Amino acid sequence: MEKSYLIKPMLDEDYPVIDYGKGVYLFDMEGKKYLDAASGAVTANIGHGAAEIMEAMQEQAKKVSFVYRSQFTSGAAEKLAQKIAALLPGDLNWSFFVNSGSEATETAMKMAIQYWQEKGIHTKTKVLSRWVSYHGITLGALSMSGHTGRRARFVPLLEDFPVINPPYCYRCPYNLTAPTCNYLCARELNQAIERIGAEKIAAFIAEPVIGASGGAITPPKDYFKTIKEICDAHDILFIADEVMTGSGRTGTMLASEHWDIIPDIVALGKGLGAGYAPIAAAVASEKVMEPILAGSKSVMSGHTLSANPQSCAVALAVLEYLEKNEIMREVENKGEYLRNELEKLIAQYSFVGDVRGKGLLLGIEFVEDRITKTPFPRHALVTQQMVSLAKEKGLIVYPAGAGIDGVNGDSIIISPPLTITTNEMEELIDLLAATFEAFS
Ligand code: PLP
Repeated sequence: MEKSYLIKPMLDEDYPVIDYGKGVYLFDMEGKKYLDAASGAVTANIGHGAAEIMEAMQEQAKKVSFVYRSQFTSGAAEKLAQKIAALLPGDLNWSFFVNSGSEATETAMKMAIQYWQEKGIHTKTKVLSRWVSYHGITLGALSMSGHTGRRARFVPLLEDFPVINPPYCYRCPYNLTAPTCNYLCARELNQAIERIGAEKIAAFIAEPVIGASGGAITPPKDYFKTIKEICDAHDILFIADEVMTGSGRTGTMLASEHWDIIPDIVALGKGLGAGYAPIAAAVASEKVMEPILAGSKSVMSGHTLSANPQSCAVALAVLEYLEKNEIMREVENKGEYLRNELEKLIAQYSFVGDVRGKGLLLGIEFVEDRITKTPFPRHALVTQQMVSLAKEKGLIVYPAGAGIDGVNGDSIIISPPLTITTNEMEELIDLLAATFEAFS
């Protein structure tokens, strides 16, 4: 093979070259078939090769592919913003389109700071967050991320925004169980606010289900209610990072809906364009937009390719596809089926410690000793082993929480396209069992 000058994640590894995708499958140039149980990076929510999306791309390309947002708007961007306002709960009506999840969370952070400035409060500039979290790789987003592995090289450039523990019930730092724990991990936010001073804090950001850094760590019932109450009591905006959990991944448009909370600002990405085009959004409520509309009348952010008509047309087609095929309605049932099947694997393989998640965002944590929950030693690189064994078998799983934070164990995410059928889920389980067998 010719020398590759492409900077890939591991420069000394050979990556299969994908030829095409169809539904939940990817096929490489050698004809090997992979069941994409990760939707890439929890992104290809409607699977690969959907004809409707290709038609929408072609239609838009025939009209216009690019207009600059400071000069023009486009029908595609306007319709997408309207569709999002209609689909999201409460009055989360105002969309700022960007190209990646990192840009979306960073835009959300900037909107929160600007909200307070427009109200004449200039001290509220910090955005608090949790450890074992991931909000993106750009510096503002990385500052908010409690992902020590990804922060490590850039610590001097980052703000210390992560301040509290995540709701990691499997490894509760208090050794308690919800709800008798009284959600102490959420109440840590009170202490952090007291220490830092509410007058300095613009917002608190959290992923409803923790993805990349923890492997679908799912909060107990009243966790987010408690968080939201604390934020409201201290005049702190709540930003839900729904880049991974949004766009139907857990069976509702936003995962926040499962816990009956309406965030002040939401970040969407990944599944919004379902991988057919790069698009993400920071969506703000009327409350957040009110002082901006009455004040400077401009959100201070933007990228050259923001609200790109081609990407907006794709995202609109993806949302219409979800609606037309009533895909979200089936997600909880599919998730439950898959979760039950995964739980059966616990009985068979002693290194499966925990199965968790919401809808079709499921996580499996691996342990050396199930009784003591002792994680595998860091050097064992179990997450990586699982991912590559699965790939050998023709199964794509997403690596998460590879023990990077010293508190969480090795884990993988199972997040197939929401369109997966029962037969395909059976095949997924068989391939996963074969992977575990090879690991044993
Ligand atoms: N927020 C969450 C919850 C994510 O999972 C990710 C990516 O994994 C991001 C933000 C960053 O998104 P992107 O990689 O598109 O910049």
